Formats: sequence, structure tokens, C-alpha cells
Amino acid sequence: MKRKSITLKDMHTEPPRWCVGCGNINILNSLKRFIVLKQLDPAKIVSLSGIGCSGRTPNHINTYGVHAIHGRAIPVALGLSMTRPELHLFIHSGDGDALSIGGNHLIHGINKNFNCVFLLHDNELYALTKCQTSPTTKFGKKTNTQPKGTPFKPVNAVGLALGFGASFVASTADWMRNHFDETLEAAFNHKGFSFVHVAQRCPHHDPDNFNSRTCDWFTYITHRNGISPEKRFLGKAKIIKHDPTNKTRAFELAMNERRFFGLFYIDKNVPQYETILRKNIKSGQQESKKDLFDPFLI
Ligand code: SF4
Repeated sequence: MKRKSITLKDMHTEPPRWCVGCGNINILNSLKRFIVLKQLDPAKIVSLSGIGCSGRTPNHINTYGVHAIHGRAIPVALGLSMTRPELHLFIHSGDGDALSIGGNHLIHGINKNFNCVFLLHDNELYALTKCQTSPTTKFGKKTNTQPKGTPFKPVNAVGLALGFGASFVASTADWMRNHFDETLEAAFNHKGFSFVHVAQRCPHHDPDNFNSRTCDWFTYITHRNGISPEKRFLGKAKIIKHDPTNKTRAFELAMNERRFFGLFYIDKNVPQYETILRKNIKSGQQESKKDLFDPFLI
């Protein structure tokens, strides 16, 4: 029987409980648009999250969902990818969730290269716990845990993902609708762990962070196999060419003081853990049971 077309209305659940202007709302809306555009079966999608404001994302989209414990969305997703490789996995993790308590899982999730879209909602602070310093909080930023100013340099999330060996690394922003949509599509099409860094606004705790109206503080990186710059900034934003297969150059861009948006790196030849595992299970099943025993012992 032909499946009924999916509409945006089908993707809605309860209205999001995020502050007005929160970047999470744009991320959520983009995901819904993507599912409708691609006519993906919501019964084959799992949205997973850890703890934090972004952790509510699975509650607000009509797919299967797992609101896991702090920093642990990745191991849950990895288990799913092992047993149900036909499912589409979207992982939502904030900067605190992904890079602090969940940092260990992030390393090994990237390393296993299991198939998923990992969205790092990076608002550069712990928002749910009322503006505490997170791993990506800017040096000198006053927070509730560092009222005299954050004394640490922020962790470079894109640099870390490249260093951990991610097979897909991209960066976008919640307020760049076309750029975000295109990034999401590229991440979805990639087979493996697609790491997407998202600059996410938190107007409640940090309204002056990320100036979404101007483009003089960042540069788009483009390539014929990359991601196009945001339409509304065309002719205004700085744009450079970058071949996303060049990892050395990707590192140089990631380590730069200036922010870059686009596809940093892609490697389509990294094996996925679920494929390796299933292949091993299959070849194991073909072995005769008697081959499992030492002939000298039976
Ligand atoms: Fe969004 Fe910040 Fe409000 Fe959390 S506190 S819902 S991140 S605007």
C-alpha cells in the first residue's frame, strides 16, 4: 500500500518549550522541513539527545525519540545502529553535553564512524542550568560559575572532531536557513558519523553572542562538492574556496581565530562499525560448528 505523503503538520508534536528567538527552534524547523522534503518515513527516524536545552528536541518532533542521560546519546545511538542499521539517526547534543560529560563518547562515536547525523547545538554555555561556563565559553565571559570571567580558552569543537578522525565535519549556524538545510542534506547523504557544528543563539542568557545580522566576523568555505554560502549574505560575506578532501587545510581553517562556515572535511572511504560488525557476524555464521572446537580436544 502506498504510504501517505508526509506534511509539516505530521511532524509537529507539542509546541516547543524554548525561549522566544532560541536557535534550537530553527534547528528543529529545519529538520522537519528536511524530513518532508525527502519524504522520509518518520517510523524509520530516531531523534536522540542528552541533557540541556537541546535535549528537548526529540520531544518536539514526531519521530521515534530517546531523551537519554547526560552525554550518553551517542552510546544509545551506536547500539541502535548495530541492531537496526536501516534507521536514520539524528543526535542532538549541546556543547556541555557533547564536549564535557559526553566527551569520551564523542571520541569513540566518531572513531567508530557509525552512520548518524550528529548536531552539536553550540550556544557556548550551559543554558538549562542558568548560564554556567561550558567547554566552548569564550575566554573572559562572565557566567554564574565564573562571575569574574571565564579563565579558560574555549575548546575548538571543529578542530577536535577533525583530530578524532571524523569522516565528515561541517559548520553552520541556526539563523542561516539555506546554509543549514544544505549542510543537513550533505550530512545525511554521507555514510558514517557526520559531525555538524551549529552556532546556536541563546538570546536568554547571551543575547550579544553571534551577530546574526552581519557577516563581517566569519567566512564561508565553498567548493563544487561543498556547501553554498547563505543566499542573503551573497555579495556581502567573505568566501574562500576549500577542497574538503584536504585535511591539512581543514585543520588550518579550524584553528584560525576567524570563524568559518561550510564543509571542512569529508572522507567517503572510512569503514562504518555497523558494516564491519554485521560482516563479521555473517561470516561467523557460515563456519561449521565443529570448526569452533579444537580437534585435539574432541
Ligand atoms: Fe534557548 Fe537559551 Fe532559552 Fe535554553 S535558555 S531555551 S538555549 S534561549
